[in-house]
Amino acid sequence: MTLHDSYDPDNIFAKMLRGEVPCVKVMEDDVALAFMDIFPQAEGHTLVVPKDVEARNLLEMPDDKLGPYMQRVQAVTRAVEKALKPDGIVVTQFNGAPAGQTVYHLHFHIIPRREGESLRRHADGGPADTDSLKGIADRIAAFL
Ligand code: 5GP
Repeated sequence: MTLHDSYDPDNIFAKMLRGEVPCVKVMEDDVALAFMDIFPQAEGHTLVVPKDVEARNLLEMPDDKLGPYMQRVQAVTRAVEKALKPDGIVVTQFNGAPAGQTVYHLHFHIIPRREGESLRRHADGGPADTDSLKGIADRIAAFL
């Protein structure tokens, strides 16, 4: 996938937004859905996707929807901090396959970091246990 291509309405995050594929939810409102990454790079790795847009990446996000969406990204990041008390937090986003993007619906990653703990590989490795993800999601959601 290049930076500019048509939006695939059957990408995995679009299916989650339509409720066709399950996810471990952290929050959902009329602007965004936040859920646990199934292949977490660190404990608490959360994704935030915007609703009602066909934006494959940040470049394609309509101006008027960006502000409300980024408020949700910030709110979830704050909740991750309060719930998990990490030493640092990576908030990141990839545009296009050469940049590391693998799912083509805009999303931000919120990845808690701890001193001395290395990051697991991106979009790789085995899936996390659903029950443990639910436990973490509940802890984060308590601060939203
Ligand atoms: P990207 O590479 O596009 O920036 O990030 C996509 C992210 O989605 C990766 O971190 C990957 O682990 C995650 N992911 C891929 N498929 C699924 C899935 O089916 N469920 C969940 N919860 N996360 C997924």
